Amino acid sequence: MAKRLVIIGGDAAGMSAATQVRRMKTVAELEIVAFERSTRTSYAACGLPYLVGGLVDSPASLVARTPEQHRAKGIDVRTRHEVAAIDVKASTVTVRDLESGQESAVHYDELLISTGASGILPSWPGIDAKGVLQLRTLDDAAAVEQLLAAGARRAVVVGAGYIGLEVAEGLLQRGLQVTVVERLDAPMGAVLDADMATDVADAMRAAGIDLRFGTAVSGFTADGGRVTAVATAAGPVEADLVVIGLGVRPNAELARAAGVGVGESGGIQVDDHLRTDTPHIWAAGDCVESHHRMTGRSVVVALGTHANKQGRVVGTNLAGGDAAFGGVLGTAITRFNDMEIARTGLTEREAKAAGLDAIGVTTEASSRAHYYPGAEPMKIKMVVERGSGRLLGAQIVGGTGAGKRIDVLATALWNGMTVAEVAGMDLSYAPPFSPVWDPVLLAAGKAASVV
Ligand code: FAD
Repeated sequence: MAKRLVIIGGDAAGMSAATQVRRMKTVAELEIVAFERSTRTSYAACGLPYLVGGLVDSPASLVARTPEQHRAKGIDVRTRHEVAAIDVKASTVTVRDLESGQESAVHYDELLISTGASGILPSWPGIDAKGVLQLRTLDDAAAVEQLLAAGARRAVVVGAGYIGLEVAEGLLQRGLQVTVVERLDAPMGAVLDADMATDVADAMRAAGIDLRFGTAVSGFTADGGRVTAVATAAGPVEADLVVIGLGVRPNAELARAAGVGVGESGGIQVDDHLRTDTPHIWAAGDCVESHHRMTGRSVVVALGTHANKQGRVVGTNLAGGDAAFGGVLGTAITRFNDMEIARTGLTEREAKAAGLDAIGVTTEASSRAHYYPGAEPMKIKMVVERGSGRLLGAQIVGGTGAGKRIDVLATALWNGMTVAEVAGMDLSYAPPFSPVWDPVLLAAGKAASVV
C-alpha cells in the first residue's frame, strides 16, 4: 500500500509542497491528502490590496489552482476540513469536517504542517463591530467590497506596515477618505530607517492620506453593531470601514500542543531541510522560523516568497530528494502609488541593535540617464560594517524602476560582498534603464569611500 503524506493547510507552502511531491512521486508511490479549513486553495493573498483597489478585476484571477485542479493532479484536497490535533505516538491527525461537524482520525506516514500565520488582533473593545476587518483572505476582500457597496466613505487603516500601506493606496484609489493611524512615528517603522521612511510619509500625505503617527488605538465605537469611529489616545477618528494591519503571528499551536518544538520567535523550529524536531513531521511557510543570514538568529519573516520556496524544498525532501532552504535576508518590496519601497538585510537600527559597528550612507540618484524621458529620482541607503566594508543591508525609495534594484544588493548580501566589490560589479547600462553609473554602483562607491 502507498505511504501517505498528510498536509495541514492548502495554500502557498502546503500546495507548493504537494505539487513538488507529485512531480517526483506517483499516486501509487505516495498518497497526498491535504486538509484546508477554508473553501480555497493556492490563492495569491499578495494580490488582495490590488483587488480592493480595483487594479485586479476579479477574485477568481487571484486563484492559482482550485481544489478541483489539484485533485486532477492526484492530490486529495479536502476543503472545509480542519485539523484539530496531532497525535505523534499514533501517527494520526484528528480531522473535523466543518460541514458535518464529524471528527475522524487520519493516519500519516509523513506530516507537513503549513498552517500559515494569523493577523494580530488586540482585544480592543468594539473590535467585533461590523466594518472592522483585516485583509487576509478573499472573503475579507469581499467584505470590503460589500462595505463600499453599502456606501462606506471614511476608511481608517490601523498600522502603517506593508499591508497597511497597500490597503491605504487601494482605498484611496476607490475614492475613500483615508486615515492611517500608527503607534510609531513613521510608516514602515519596523522595516525602514526613519530617514527613509520620511519620504514614504511625504508621498502618503501628498496623495491625500490623513496620517496620524504616534497615535495609539484603544478601541472602536459602534452604532447598531456597525463601526462609527476608532478611539485613539488623541481622540476619535470617524470611520465606516476599518482595516487592521498590525502584522502576523505564526499558527504554531497545533505543533506546540503535539510537543513539536516552537522557538522564541513563535515559529515552529525547523532545520534547513524543513524537518521539525519530531520524526516524520515537517513544517514550512509562515508558521516556521527561518535562519537570518545576517544575524544568525531564528526569525519569522512571513512572506509568500519564502512560503513558496520552502514548499518546494520540503516537497523535494518528502519525495526522497535532497534540498535545503538557504535562509532569509528580509528582502521585501512594495509601493505606494508611484513610489517604490524596498529593503534587504539589516537597517542601520537593526545592525546596531545586533551589536555591529554599522554606518548608514545615503545616495541620491536617477533611475535613468538624466536626459532620457521618465528619469525618476531615487534614494539608496547602504548599511555597511565600519572597517571591513561588508554590506549589511540596503533600502531604496524612489520612482519607477527604483525598487527592483534591491535584488542586486540582496545578491551581494547573500554572497557576503563588501561595498567596494559591489562598486566594481558589471551592471548593465543604456539610457532608458539607468545612468552610466547605475544608482547601485554610485551608492556602493560612496559607501566604500567613507567606511
Ligand atoms: P497561508 O497562505 O496563510 O496558508 C495557510 C493555510 O492553512 C490557510 O489556507 C489556512 O486556512 C490553513 N489552515 C491553518 N490552520 C489549519 C488547520 N488547523 N486545519 C486546516 N487548515 C488550516 N508576501 C510576499 O512575499 N509579497 C507580498 O507582496 C505579499 N503581500 C501580501 C499581502 C496581503 C494582503 C497578505 C495577507 C499577505 C501578503 N504576503 C506577501 C504574505 C503571503 O501571502 C504569505 O506569506 C503566504 O500566503 C504564506 O503562505 P503559507 O502557505 O505559509 O500560509
